[in-house]
Amino acid sequence: MGAATQGVLEELRRLFGARALLSRAQKEVYRYDAILVGPEPLAVVLPESREEVQALVRLARRHGLPLVARGAGSGLSGGSVPGEGAVVVAFTRMARLEVDPVGRTAWAEPGVTTARISEAARPFGLFYPPDPASYRTSTLGGNLGENAGGPLCFKYGVTGDYVLELEWVDAWGEVHRLDRKAYDLPGLLIGSEGTLGLITGARLRLLPLPRHRATLMAVFPEVGALAQAVSRAIARGAVPARLEFLDPHCVDAVEDYLGMGLPRGHALLLAETDGEEAEAVEEELSLLEEAALAHGARVVRARDEGEAEALWRARRAVSPALGRLRPKRVNEDIAVPRSRLPQVVREIRALGEAFGLLVVQFGHIGDGNLHPNILFDPRCEPEERVWELAHEIARVALRHGGVLSGEHGIGLMKRKFMAEALAPEGLEAFRTVKRALDPEGILNPDKVLP
Ligand SMILES: Cc1cc2nc3c(=O)[nH]c(=O)nc-3n(C[C@H](O)[C@H](O)[C@H](O)COP(=O)(O)OP(=O)(O)OC[C@H]3O[C@@H](n4cnc5c(N)ncnc54)[C@H](O)[C@@H]3O)c2cc1C
Repeated sequence: MGAATQGVLEELRRLFGARALLSRAQKEVYRYDAILVGPEPLAVVLPESREEVQALVRLARRHGLPLVARGAGSGLSGGSVPGEGAVVVAFTRMARLEVDPVGRTAWAEPGVTTARISEAARPFGLFYPPDPASYRTSTLGGNLGENAGGPLCFKYGVTGDYVLELEWVDAWGEVHRLDRKAYDLPGLLIGSEGTLGLITGARLRLLPLPRHRATLMAVFPEVGALAQAVSRAIARGAVPARLEFLDPHCVDAVEDYLGMGLPRGHALLLAETDGEEAEAVEEELSLLEEAALAHGARVVRARDEGEAEALWRARRAVSPALGRLRPKRVNEDIAVPRSRLPQVVREIRALGEAFGLLVVQFGHIGDGNLHPNILFDPRCEPEERVWELAHEIARVALRHGGVLSGEHGIGLMKRKFMAEALAPEGLEAFRTVKRALDPEGILNPDKVLP
């Protein structure tokens, strides 16, 4: 280790003590997110306040050290994976949370886990809608970094829609705390994957808990008919709170895992409507039921909360169930116009067959967000082929007027594809913003932009 590096570590030690002195083995877990792995970071720092984040940024600036913000590391695009010589800023110790029931807001630090926000709001009859499937582990900082969505996003919107005010430390170590009224700088930070500033807090909007809910499961012979039914129901005015689909491979995998009597070999749609009036909630569900029946589905309505919960358990079991099919998977994340879904799903299935790889598809179908997962065994299926297929899947989305990422972000995984997704002038506009807010390139360098 060179003298300069020794000096940096010495300074980190002085500022943060044991919170910057993780052992090699402890640092190991900060190399990963849920999809990629990077080199051992130079150091991992666990700040406990915005002032400590400021001090760290100033130090990094003096020494030209790359800083990689990290929440729970549940990201699926490599955003929190360190590059060579990087310092990981792990926000898990900044986890203060305060609910203001009168203002219907919460002030939260970035290390607060997503689930905790709704749990803290519930005693006041309130909830926080953004609900990535990882909500028990993911943090607010990571959700803001990725502008995460979840099953509720079709009706309620994504993380950024709930931010009233944002606090962050910029690349010079200055703190900003701004609302969204002029220039909407918080909007620029949200979804910027730690490349424009380090978020240290947010004032979030909370909503009253809906009084009624209704759930159904519709069983289709194939995914195309399911997608058409969804388009029809939405065109007729349905705004379901949750609308999720599972393709037949997924259904089989979940059935093998849970053994709950799901119809093997069929595509499943799970839909939930919610609201203040029971009658209106049931009526809205009827729009979905009629559309599903018109497209050849068999429909089962949950008769009570217990039955509804059992159906949603099937959706939550997708990840562990797929883990039993192959040891590894690449979780793609694209969004396409809803009208293109049947064609897109078919093209992706055909691509999987052409590559000889198992591809399963599920997602938040209401807003055209698909998660084609490529499942593979690295002992007999070369990983390069998997990434080639992932690239082809991204191309399908772009050809159909969609986007590279519905909610998982660009990170490292899709950085290369950005040149295909954006016109050169669009990319240059991104680079101009990055240069203006981080001229030395210390904030999560080598992410997002090709
Ligand atoms: C099983 C599973 C299911 C998932 N389901 C969903 C889903 O339904 N919807 C969805 O959107 N995602 C989903 N994800 C992906 C992931 O959970 C989300 O992207 C989540 O928002 C990441 O949160 P995190 O705390 O783990 O962030 P990390 O992975 O640690 O970081 C994510 C990004 O945010 C940046 N970041 C973290 N903290 C800060 C900060 N304080 N300031 C600035 N930047 C910061 C990081 O640098 C990185 O670029 C899922 C992942 C898994 C494993």
